[in-house]
Amino acid sequence: MLFKKQIQKCVIIGSGPAGYSSAIYAARADLNPIIFLGFQPGGQLTTTTRIDNYLGFPSGISGKNFMENCKIQAERFNTKIINKSVINVSLSNKKGGIHRIFLEKKEEYVESIGIIIATGSRPKFLEIEKEKKFMGLGVSFCATCDGFFHKEKDVAVIGGGDSALEEVNYLAKICKKVYLIVRKDYLKASKILQYHISKKNNISILFSSKITEIIGDNFLEGIKIFNHKNKTSSTLLISGLFIAIGHIPNTEIFKKELDLDERGYIIVKKGSTITNKPGVFASGDVQDPNYRQAITSAGTGCMAALDLERYLSLCNY
Ligand code: NDP
Repeated sequence: MLFKKQIQKCVIIGSGPAGYSSAIYAARADLNPIIFLGFQPGGQLTTTTRIDNYLGFPSGISGKNFMENCKIQAERFNTKIINKSVINVSLSNKKGGIHRIFLEKKEEYVESIGIIIATGSRPKFLEIEKEKKFMGLGVSFCATCDGFFHKEKDVAVIGGGDSALEEVNYLAKICKKVYLIVRKDYLKASKILQYHISKKNNISILFSSKITEIIGDNFLEGIKIFNHKNKTSSTLLISGLFIAIGHIPNTEIFKKELDLDERGYIIVKKGSTITNKPGVFASGDVQDPNYRQAITSAGTGCMAALDLERYLSLCNY
């Protein structure tokens, strides 16, 4: 057991804006939080080029720098930051009960009265042949990470939401040509992002289209596309395919313990972060299929810490 058999008051699982916001509030309330960073320290924002819509940053900030600032701020209030992942939990049904959080090595665990789950979500796959095989060999989920390899080349992005348009915007600055493949005949993305891409002349949007095949033997060399409106097939020779078709909540380790909705998001009591287990709270994308913004994640992270603080005082801790 970590921390010499000490029972914790606040263990936070996940280190995106929700996790760090919970940590800062919990630390300032003397709950001595421990945060487990998880498989992607800093969460998905670390792969975002620029955050321009977070309140208080008039010139914007890179996702990586933003998350680094969150970490520094949490450290300032003595949050224990541990670079490990949680692989399982055993949650108590009793009010004031003790939950157990298992780490990478099965015999290693932490016990806590309060848990804040902030494990976020991960990108969805297309589920077509060669997609996984060519990850890092032309197929990518992150333009800011891999765009550089496609400098002055032709690439494609699939998806019609904000994520896809952000990828397109970034790639259009460094690539020769960017195809955006959209399965509907309109974009779901916000008007401001649509406006940004309409200003670039090396972007071509292929509506009503889906990828039917990834071409290449050892790495991606192209894709086959089918347009279901005019029933035509075509081939695009590209060096990179960027997938941006939405997300799946990271709730696998909680599915036996917590109530989840049909898409796998943790169900919380309306207007709060309270789950169906006493002392367990959920914040950020893991409980939010709708808003999914850095600022809403941070907001619910704050709520989770306040909900936990209230819970502990009701349990006389
Ligand atoms: P969304 O769920 O909003 O969009 C997913 C897109 O991918 C849709 O166009 C969807 O099409 C398409 N899609 C889904 N599955 C497939 C598939 N199998 N094949 C082809 N296309 C598919 O996800 P995002 O990641 O774009 O955004 C999630 C949330 O995060 C949103 O709320 C968004 O506003 C937010 N966000 C905000 C940003 C910002 O403010 N700068 C940046 C990035 C994300 P269909 O419409 O047909 O389902």
